[in-house]
Amino acid sequence: MFKKILIANRGEIALRIQRACREMGIKAVVVYSEADREAKYVKLADEAVCIGPPASNLSYLNMPAIIAAAEVTDAEAIHPGYGFLSENADFAERVERSGFAFIGPTPESIRTMGDKVAAKQAMIKAGVPCVPGSEGALPDDSKEIIRQARALGYPVIIKAAGGGGGRGMRVVHTEAALVNAVATTRTEAGAAFGNPAVYMEKFLENPRHVEIQILADTFKNAVWLGERDCSMQRRHQKIMEEAPAPGIPRRVIEKIGDRCAAACKKMGYRGAGTFEFLYENGEFYFIEMNTRVQVEHPVTELVTGIDIVQMQIRVAAGEKLPFTQRSIQVRGHALECRINAEDPYKFTPSPGRITLWHPPGGPGVRVDSHAYTNYHVPPQYDSMIGKIIVHGDTREQALARMRTALSETVIEGIQTNVALHRELLADAKVIAGGTSIHYLEGWLAQHRR
Ligand code: ADP
Repeated sequence: MFKKILIANRGEIALRIQRACREMGIKAVVVYSEADREAKYVKLADEAVCIGPPASNLSYLNMPAIIAAAEVTDAEAIHPGYGFLSENADFAERVERSGFAFIGPTPESIRTMGDKVAAKQAMIKAGVPCVPGSEGALPDDSKEIIRQARALGYPVIIKAAGGGGGRGMRVVHTEAALVNAVATTRTEAGAAFGNPAVYMEKFLENPRHVEIQILADTFKNAVWLGERDCSMQRRHQKIMEEAPAPGIPRRVIEKIGDRCAAACKKMGYRGAGTFEFLYENGEFYFIEMNTRVQVEHPVTELVTGIDIVQMQIRVAAGEKLPFTQRSIQVRGHALECRINAEDPYKFTPSPGRITLWHPPGGPGVRVDSHAYTNYHVPPQYDSMIGKIIVHGDTREQALARMRTALSETVIEGIQTNVALHRELLADAKVIAGGTSIHYLEGWLAQHRR
């Protein structure tokens, strides 16, 4: 096992990884930007190295500075967390070439999955069902584009091969708008992702977002750890997640989970990963794979009892997965609410000093956050300041625990979306479960004040 790991991230996930290291007796090195200098998790780390000014491109995205920090501290491995450099194949390659273990999949896997056209092709080959769409990237020939759209039927969605974070997508309802929409998406994709390739998919009107967590080692073992429902989204950003997904027959989930695990074996995938699907009318359609730990991993940890971050570390250190598919059991129900420093209804970011931080507690409640009273939320980064996660024997109990947890939560000095979560958990459709990816935006339009 490693003796020392460098964490190339910030905020709650940097603390989460640090906790995993500590439990395993591994020393944790944290890198930080000048904006995070005073953060408590930085002080808690065994060692901390400043890697640059607040702007991410000069610090958390600064590959030479991060690798130099690993060198001077004698770390053996680098954990990239999520966001920042976590899905950057060049970074993974540089980490490995510099003699460190990258706690994640191989650079080749990251590269394939980062190109959504290549990812879809790999999935089709591995027998994972995909959203019907163009065969690979769209050609220049507008007649051919029109032909393919007609074959799929409108509406269609044009997506950038290099897209991510909910950007680089355009829905097209009519043939008249098609060719222009393809051209605009191409131009935007070239500018935003350095890759102008776009592809087309049938636009599913009312799907749910259901994803499968997998773990694979370097001995050709791969398992899936159940599913998560992440349909509660605004602008393609998830705000609440749960496991298992309510109302989906187990045999349907098991079939898709087994396919995902088999695909990992076939691809030689290693580490943790997530297959994201849209689920509509009883069918799963692959949309993309995330080759990293996800924000919502704790709901899976609570229902399976498996520490996903520790497993990532074990696999990177060359250990075998300590369990088989048959020994993995999903017990009870878990929910997660992401706590964002923002106006709960207008969603404008609300950075600044937290003057009072009182997190919830009690049976089945977990809070993953780096925040505390007097913590200053820097304006430069993502507005998520933590997550409240609960576990119950049933979905009803989990809902009740989350309501209690949210009622105990006191955060003063900045605005947060806690009030929005409280309202959503009192909504009849949310309580019933199984809402689509459009539900939250519709709800917000109705409840706008
Ligand atoms: P990103 O990498 O930017 O997150 P995804 O491919 O995962 O892009 O899609 C993000 C979101 O966009 C999905 O969760 C879903 O809400 C919507 N979406 C993507 N593809 C389709 C589709 N074919 N039909 C309907 N909605 C889609």
